[in-house]
Amino acid sequence: MSEVAIKVAVRVRPFNRRELEQNQRNIIRVLDEGALIFDPDEEDDEFFYQGMKQNYRDITKRVKKKLTMEFDSVFNEDAVNADIFEKCMKPLVNSVMEGFNCSVFVYGATGAGKTFTMLGSEDIPGITFLTMQELFRQMDEYGEERRFDIGISYLEVYNEQVMNLLTKSGPLKLREDSNGVVVGGLALKQIHNADELIELLHLGNKNRTQHPTDANAESSRSHAIFQVHIRMIEKKTNTKRTVKLSMIDLAGSERAQSTKCKGLRFKEGANINKSLLALGNCINKLADGSKHIPYRDSNLTRILKDSLGGNCQTLMIANISPSSITYEDTYNTLKYASRAKKI
Ligand code: ADP
Ligand code: MG
Repeated sequence: MSEVAIKVAVRVRPFNRRELEQNQRNIIRVLDEGALIFDPDEEDDEFFYQGMKQNYRDITKRVKKKLTMEFDSVFNEDAVNADIFEKCMKPLVNSVMEGFNCSVFVYGATGAGKTFTMLGSEDIPGITFLTMQELFRQMDEYGEERRFDIGISYLEVYNEQVMNLLTKSGPLKLREDSNGVVVGGLALKQIHNADELIELLHLGNKNRTQHPTDANAESSRSHAIFQVHIRMIEKKTNTKRTVKLSMIDLAGSERAQSTKCKGLRFKEGANINKSLLALGNCINKLADGSKHIPYRDSNLTRILKDSLGGNCQTLMIANISPSSITYEDTYNTLKYASRAKKI
């Protein structure tokens, strides 16, 4: 394993009603647990004209067709949040208990399933809850040897402004100190079990900035950063360690111009791209083994400075729709994800 560990998973969500109604083509074929084909050949693509097999589309436009891509994990439409938790998150919780900072990103266009994966829906818990449940279970198991202190924070980066989602306050300032980047005025919330978390997540999500755009009425233009700060104290030796687990619901990765944004909305788009671009650049530099990682380029990467690279374990979950409506977005997401996989 290289010094920097980034695992990349791809999750394909099921067709939604709109896509089904429009009879959209499926542009993803999941081959197995680690590979997929983007834009596969399909029976439906062809029709017979006077006994001759024809391709109804201009084949020269399909420059990206039939692209086989490999990832650490690939989840098809049938996968549930619990599957993603089992395969990807459990190993991270083990790493947290061993003392490594860990971070998880959900990446993808608006509507691709990021928030569903992270938070779930009313009756389907997302991986945040499942991960916290496992964390509390493991803390219980270690109870003889260690004491734990656990505090959480839930931040939003919106237009490069950092807001606390758990209390109403103005934008928070980031400052650097010897330990890294500190979010000024941020008090961690204590929690004692995973159920207490649910209330806080609900509260936080109500405070998230939601702006409807043409692309999707529920689109979220903000990055939500959920962090668990765990202090572990060995009872015998009184040795203390602090570990951080970060779970980040990134803003939609679609390009601003594709949502016909103007004015304020356009600025939001530009800033989102700035943060996502900075994250991509940091990942690229980490992949190259570069000494200088441009964490300072955005507030998102500044906050995550101690949770990316170094001894951290990172998981990127790329969410995609299987429908041809989102052909370009899906292609871009897969490209971003395969770049991250090079690490
Ligand atoms: P994003 O956060 O990426 O914009 P959402 O998570 O809000 O996207 O998903 C868009 C819609 O699709 C939501 O209504 C969500 O419930 C639904 N959805 C997403 N992924 C799945 C899935 N794997 N199974 C069922 N419904 C899903
Ligand atoms: Mg969302």
